[in-house]
Amino acid sequence: PQTHFGFQNVSEEERREKIYQVFENVAEKYDVMNDSMTLGIHRVWKDILVHKMNPSPGTLLVDVAGGTGDIAFRFINYVHSIRERQLQQKLKRHQNLSWQEISKSYEEEKVKPLGDSQVVVCDINKEMLKVGKQRAQHLGYSEGLSWVLGNAEELPFDDDKFDVYTIAFGIRNVTRIDLALQEAYRVLKPGGRFLCLEFSHVSNPLLSRLYDLYSFQVIPVLGEIIAGDWKSYQYLVESIRRFPPQADGRT
Ligand code: SAM
Repeated sequence: PQTHFGFQNVSEEERREKIYQVFENVAEKYDVMNDSMTLGIHRVWKDILVHKMNPSPGTLLVDVAGGTGDIAFRFINYVHSIRERQLQQKLKRHQNLSWQEISKSYEEEKVKPLGDSQVVVCDINKEMLKVGKQRAQHLGYSEGLSWVLGNAEELPFDDDKFDVYTIAFGIRNVTRIDLALQEAYRVLKPGGRFLCLEFSHVSNPLLSRLYDLYSFQVIPVLGEIIAGDWKSYQYLVESIRRFPPQADGRT
């Protein structure tokens, strides 16, 4: 069927531009809208992703289509908590450490709270990155965090660079998913991991009816009330619908 965006009739370039406009329009309200559309559940999904990643101090992560930094901030919190736990264990094991040794360990923790870990947030959209940087400043994240403007289909990174590549609710917005996957493979070190978080299709018929009602009737209305932008949220709903069903991913 014809969609609001007329996906079937536009070139790849036009589609990329339309998607750019959507995220440019919603950037300021993106985080509030995420909470209202999912009743905050997107936070749990993102927590699960980072727990599954289980990064250690030293992990290099690239979060592609990273937007306003949700995955990056969780990664930093996670690695930081591991470093603190390691420090506590070290102090417990060496009850008789001198004060100098104890304060040296704390100094190291203060200077390098993430060990050698780093996260690079890469997104194609300047406005999303701008909001992300403002959030990082407001929340006090800076160590081990950088922001790079770039397209998932042509990443501005060397080969074999990262231990982990994440893409959360991003891949369905990429025009050429095959190119993005090739690029993920290229920038990952041998043995590196690719973690993707994405919406897909509801298989239970009753839930599917409810989801249809919610996504077509409620989400664009919420978009209009909160962000003054019906069309962009209609796009988000349509892009989920167009994304291949789970079974296709297994083949
Ligand atoms: N990952 C963030 C999160 O989970 O909150 C943001 C997800 S948001 C739904 C989708 C993001 O994908 C937007 O920030 C958009 O700019 C970005 N995006 C779309 N196409 C892209 C591309 N080709 N390369 C990089 N980022 C892209």
